[in-house]
Amino acid sequence: MGHDDCIFCKIINKEIPSAKVYEDEHVYAFLDISQVTKGHTLVIPKVHTKDIYNTPDDVAGELFARVPKIARAIKKAYEPSGINLLNNNEKPAGQAVFHYHIHILPRYGKEDGFDPGWTTHDDAYTAEELQRIAENIHAHVK
Ligand code: AMP
Ligand code: ZN
Repeated sequence: MGHDDCIFCKIINKEIPSAKVYEDEHVYAFLDISQVTKGHTLVIPKVHTKDIYNTPDDVAGELFARVPKIARAIKKAYEPSGINLLNNNEKPAGQAVFHYHIHILPRYGKEDGFDPGWTTHDDAYTAEELQRIAENIHAHVK
């Protein structure tokens, strides 16, 4: 069973091919076809969930629990100089496949093809403003 027209459900069900890295009862991991860096791997839950908002705690728990051992395996196999994790949620944030997935991106130096494009704003908010932002988010945690 899989979600209709979901490419990653089809990969789990072996309806379309993939380069499998790891599989168990809850999780499937395979090489991203775009290989931003060598060993770029996607880890996905076998249960179809759209994005982080719609992913139940137990599904997220099983999924994230597998990420360290896959990261260690990539480190052993290719000795990257580091690893970044990435998870895009919603189209404006770069999500293109709407079956929840975590990118494991091995790094091989600054010019390796992956650019997190990270700009820091250390002085943008006062300590009081940071406190209000934190309280606002906290108030919505269920
Ligand atoms: P995102 O932009 O975070 O939704 O990532 C989707 C990723 O899925 C992209 O990096 C694609 O290269 C990858 N992708 C799409 N189709 C396939 C496929 N058939 N096999 C492997 N990776 C795929
Ligand atoms: Zn799916």
